[in-house]
Amino acid sequence: MMKLFDQEILEKKPLVLAGPCSAESEAQIMQTARELSAMGIKIFRAGIWKPRTKPGGFEGVGSQALEWLRKVKAETGMLVATEVANARHVREALASDVDVLWIGARTTANPFAVQEIADELAKYPQEKRDSIAVLVKNPVNPDLELWIGAIERLQRAGILRLGAIHRGFSAYGPHIFRNPPEWRIPIELKRRMPEMTVICDPSHIGGKRELIGRLSQQALNMNFDGLIIESHCSPDCALSDKDQQLTPVELGKVLGSLEIRDKVVTTESLGELRQRLDAIDGELLDLLARRMDVSREIGQYKKEHGMSVVQPERYSDLIKNRVEMAEGLKLGKKFVQTILADIHEESVRQQLEEK
Ligand code: PEP
Ligand code: MN
Repeated sequence: MMKLFDQEILEKKPLVLAGPCSAESEAQIMQTARELSAMGIKIFRAGIWKPRTKPGGFEGVGSQALEWLRKVKAETGMLVATEVANARHVREALASDVDVLWIGARTTANPFAVQEIADELAKYPQEKRDSIAVLVKNPVNPDLELWIGAIERLQRAGILRLGAIHRGFSAYGPHIFRNPPEWRIPIELKRRMPEMTVICDPSHIGGKRELIGRLSQQALNMNFDGLIIESHCSPDCALSDKDQQLTPVELGKVLGSLEIRDKVVTTESLGELRQRLDAIDGELLDLLARRMDVSREIGQYKKEHGMSVVQPERYSDLIKNRVEMAEGLKLGKKFVQTILADIHEESVRQQLEEK
């Protein structure tokens, strides 16, 4: 694996890719790019081929925008990035010297499409493959293996500048977020692939411009490596994702307000607090093991008396009673319910194994 971008791009913290959701006209692209470049943004994004949920929506202006991106590069020196969803997009984008390709969330969810993109990339000489960066957005559904699988397909195609974009996961019904972040999934991706550059996309997570600052700060607090943020010269006229786009000036304000936490300060007091946590985790595991011992004894009893393992009434009473017990303990209700459901599931599994 190579560094995702060259040193001079990575030096500036945080790493930011910015630009409109979609390329709409040469004037919109050039104006937005000039303003972003003047603010010090080094990588410009714009969707050319847009995956729309329903037919008849704005499906992007297509290949003609590649010339506009070429002009952005020539005039501002920024790297340019666009979304590719099939082999033709890859060919056209690379023929126009696009530097960064990203695979959209709907495409990552489809292994056939990802493989087609990987096979196309594999046809280029290694030197060309070394020069392009590919960013893989998480699939729309919260499936970490599918996300990792897409990354692996590109690794096998000899792509060495690889990164991941966390853009949240789709959910049914009204939510605060357009795509709830489910932070534990990108965190687990980073644990499984520690070398991977993981970039957060607060625009598609939040879906509303007011949420972008807060989500960006959360991402930095959680040690994400960078941000990709939608920015349009006049967001209210945008042909796609208008509610979530910021003007370059607004983006500048958001970026200026971010606190960068890139230090690792391990003082004695942090060490001591961590030791206390380690000890408590040990006690927790010990308690859980003791609980399972009792549970297995209950399993034995149920078996001897011809009782079924799952007793739904007892289960609902138990959850209700424990949630009440937890009141006032500064524990989230949902957390208590989830952890008890998991413990119960493990109990049932162990009781079923009782011979
Ligand atoms: C986009 O980046 O504009 C886009 C279509 O994103 P996603 O694939 O995350 O929905
Ligand atoms: Mn968008």
